[in-house]
Amino acid sequence: MRHRIAVVGGGPGGLTLARVLHRHGYPVAVLERDPAPDSRPPGGTLDLHEGMGQLALDKAGLLAEFQALSRPEGQAMRILDAAGTVLRDWQPGPDERANPEIDRGQLRDLLLDPLDVQWGREVVQVAPGTGDGVLVHFADGRQETFDLVVGADGAWSRVRPAVSSVTPHYTGVTSVETSLDDIDTRHPDLAQVIGDGSVAVYGANRSLVAQRNSGGHVKVYAKFRAPLDWHAGLDLADAEAVRSGLLALFDGWAAPVLDLVGHGTAFVHRPFYVLPESHTWAHVRGVTLLGDAAHLMPPLGAGANLAMLDGAELAESIAADPEDLDAAVCAFEERMCERAGRWAKITMAGLERLVSPDPAEALALFDHVQPS
Ligand SMILES: Cc1cc2nc3c(=O)[nH]c(=O)nc-3n(C[C@H](O)[C@H](O)[C@H](O)COP(=O)(O)OP(=O)(O)OC[C@H]3O[C@@H](n4cnc5c(N)ncnc54)[C@H](O)[C@@H]3O)c2cc1C
Repeated sequence: MRHRIAVVGGGPGGLTLARVLHRHGYPVAVLERDPAPDSRPPGGTLDLHEGMGQLALDKAGLLAEFQALSRPEGQAMRILDAAGTVLRDWQPGPDERANPEIDRGQLRDLLLDPLDVQWGREVVQVAPGTGDGVLVHFADGRQETFDLVVGADGAWSRVRPAVSSVTPHYTGVTSVETSLDDIDTRHPDLAQVIGDGSVAVYGANRSLVAQRNSGGHVKVYAKFRAPLDWHAGLDLADAEAVRSGLLALFDGWAAPVLDLVGHGTAFVHRPFYVLPESHTWAHVRGVTLLGDAAHLMPPLGAGANLAMLDGAELAESIAADPEDLDAAVCAFEERMCERAGRWAKITMAGLERLVSPDPAEALALFDHVQPS
């Protein structure tokens, strides 16, 4: 049975779907807006959980390659208070493989390998029920028809309106991201503070988190509660102004902690948006969603894992019932929405505690999920 399947979006979810379908011998069109794989920075590091992202890679036949590339030592997690005192210093055991880290770019390349992604194909609208299937409209004016269109196109999905009218809403927590390169040679003191994995510093309604990527690259995230327009009057393209603004926001914090922000040279503003916790939709023949497009939640280490598991499970559902594509998609949607609803509650509650008026809440959450 040769269905015409289009996956809109070549993120972790879409590529995992395509890769598992490919493994089962199904041709699939991956339609990606970016003009090329390296047209923008791929983003920071991802921890892939044993029963989620790693399970999905296993279903794609890529677990061994992942294990060779990933960084188990990156699971290390240190927590400081605003004065720079170390409160927790968790180190993974030698065989600990529950949540190893991998750079997003490495994960993308691993998944991409044999896939024929169509780059520069921005989808603007999807129209189901057009007789011959689902009509996909592209930004360049072209149109194409498929039997199944999967929206794996992230938070601001252009596929989602075909099945659901919901849109993401702001959580009240925003973040500003910066990067440090060659940390071990350029900033050895900071490298000590960060350790092999991540360091998090919690204050009232704000936190600073730094995460090691491969090659001495570090991503730093300043997270804080603020109205969406907190930067009114501040030019976000002016790195000097943003740095000064952040240093003022974290005024009084210890010098080595503030250096995480002070050494940043470029800053990206990323407000945290979410979809409703129990987002579901009435099934529409020929269109479905996965990953952030279906269940955008706060970035607490679950989103990419869920997107990948969604992708792997949808592919397996299709391969198990090739005669009835619609039944395969319905079965997948039921399973995905139930799981996503649970994780949306967990991550939203987690965000409330990690960026909380009482920094002790963040420490208590850490002790709950990572008992020493
Ligand atoms: C700072 C930060 C840290 C995070 N850390 C983690 C972590 O450690 N672990 C974890 O599991 N999750 C993490 N997440 C969440 C994770 O990044 C997302 O949940 C995950 O990337 C979702 O994958 P996706 O494939 O659904 O969508 P995306 O990764 O958003 O991919 C969507 C793709 O679709 C393409 N696209 C968009 N619109 C169109 C269009 N109209 N036409 C064609 N293509 C389109 C985009 O270019 C993109 O390639 C983090 C998020 C943030 C912001």
